Amino acid sequence: MLLFACETETTETTTEPVTDKDTHAEITDPKETEIWEPVPEKVTVNDNGVPSDAIVLFDGTNLNQWVSVKEEGQPAPWMINGDGSMTVKNESGDIQTTQDFGSVQLHIEWKNPVEPRADDQNRGNSGIFFQKRYEVQVLDNYDNPTYVNGMVASVYKQQIPLVNASNPSGEWQVYDIIFHAPEFNDAGEKTKSGYLTVMHNGVLVQDHVEILGTTEYIGLPKNSAHGKAPIKLQDHNDNSGVTYRNIWVREL
Ligand code: MG
Repeated sequence: MLLFACETETTETTTEPVTDKDTHAEITDPKETEIWEPVPEKVTVNDNGVPSDAIVLFDGTNLNQWVSVKEEGQPAPWMINGDGSMTVKNESGDIQTTQDFGSVQLHIEWKNPVEPRADDQNRGNSGIFFQKRYEVQVLDNYDNPTYVNGMVASVYKQQIPLVNASNPSGEWQVYDIIFHAPEFNDAGEKTKSGYLTVMHNGVLVQDHVEILGTTEYIGLPKNSAHGKAPIKLQDHNDNSGVTYRNIWVREL
């Protein structure tokens, strides 16, 4: 409450932004509509495309930023490959970040096996769960029909992607995702929905869509209050063979 009061006070003392409603006729100097501060922080991007203010979650060398979900507190059991990637270890369970996150920008690259191993939801199924609850689907969907609200880049069983931007089986794919976390009050009620924006291989597929609640396999979304929580990657227990590389986040 104290923070809220401070924010209100700050807002009241800030100079009102110039609008054209009543004032446009009076402004003759371009400088009157220039804003010089605060200056945005400089961010540089390295040769691997990683911004200087990002938290690297996987760079190919180790899984130190991840732990097992199945075996609580144990190291993540997925397999690191020689090419700087890691592959889901079948039936070893999901893995999640050691760190809790709120709203983030996430970059993650993934690919499915060259030779499809199954069809529908059992072909290259994994997933990225924000705050352990909200899944953006990973699926080999290049030539593999499935229910569209569970297809690749869907917000699982909630939001159908605008298009299918899949690459063929075996080719690397990229997600760049903006996740805005939902907010809850002290009574445990949701006061603001979460939102997702997803670029799949550079193509906009989810345009600031509302997260209705947890992305359930069976049943409707749930909305229990929670705070920051880990990002989780899914082992779908179907020998998916999904491989990941180059994972980083920027906290928003
Ligand atoms: Mg999945």
